[in-house]
Amino acid sequence: MTDQAAPPAPDVDTSAIREIAKGVFVITDRRVPLVPNIGIVLGETSALVIDTGMGNANGKAVLEAAKKLADDRNLILTLTHFHPEHGYGADAFKSVARIIYNKAQADELADKGQPYLDMFKGMGPTVAEALADTTLVAADELYDGAEHILDLGGRTAVLKTWGKAHTRGDQVVYLPDCRVLFTGDLAEERTFPIFPWFPPDDMDIDGANWIEVLDDCLALAPEIVVPGHGDIDGGAILTDVRDYIADVAALVKKAAIAGKSKDEMIAELGPAIRAAHPDWHFPEWIDFAIRYFHAQQA
Ligand SMILES: [Zn+2]
Repeated sequence: MTDQAAPPAPDVDTSAIREIAKGVFVITDRRVPLVPNIGIVLGETSALVIDTGMGNANGKAVLEAAKKLADDRNLILTLTHFHPEHGYGADAFKSVARIIYNKAQADELADKGQPYLDMFKGMGPTVAEALADTTLVAADELYDGAEHILDLGGRTAVLKTWGKAHTRGDQVVYLPDCRVLFTGDLAEERTFPIFPWFPPDDMDIDGANWIEVLDDCLALAPEIVVPGHGDIDGGAILTDVRDYIADVAALVKKAAIAGKSKDEMIAELGPAIRAAHPDWHFPEWIDFAIRYFHAQQA
């Protein structure tokens, strides 16, 4: 007997690791829901880990994989954003790695960390089990402002933030020497962008800024883009997400001018948007995007 509604366990598989550029490793998500792409970047003196997976067991597995690669390098952990599947394994790194968040991300975690933990635990037994012993972890170091440069020894990692887009504290990590960009959920590959529009509990999305962020990321001309979820590819990932967001915004605006209600927009636009992206995953996020842009019309 199979239960098709039950999601698979959100387990990070550290054997699914690939070196995508010299000293740049990704533990790939294998397209498992609620598993992110996780980065491990080696400099001469430090190793930077980007995201942890969800829950303490995943965090520990990522830490072990990072230690193996890092050898005697100092460990640094940073997160692309506060969402549970990206950062709720950080507990395993506490006092082992130097943990760095941007200020907005730290504030958002302080505000929403527990509610999101409760919400995710309600998503099914496998997710609840993964999160069972989760402790939310504060950073050892915060940065304010648009950019923070980490010297890993012989290579730098640039942490960049533009404020509110997919969340309040989204951050990308750019490696100028090999032009690799880690985007978190600002860009997912062949996946409908997640608009976490849960009014009144969470309304921290800025679609217009999100488009600007992706334009700025494209201006970096990255050769390799590591999306929050999905396959690793080039800048086309950024263009696809940017165009999707701009298209949905334009369609909703047009429908609003034509006097359509929110429910009419969902009924009419939803299937057309789905059909325009037949190979994209998680179409349930389309309606969230429509509802978000509808709310911006008021
Ligand atoms: Zn996210």
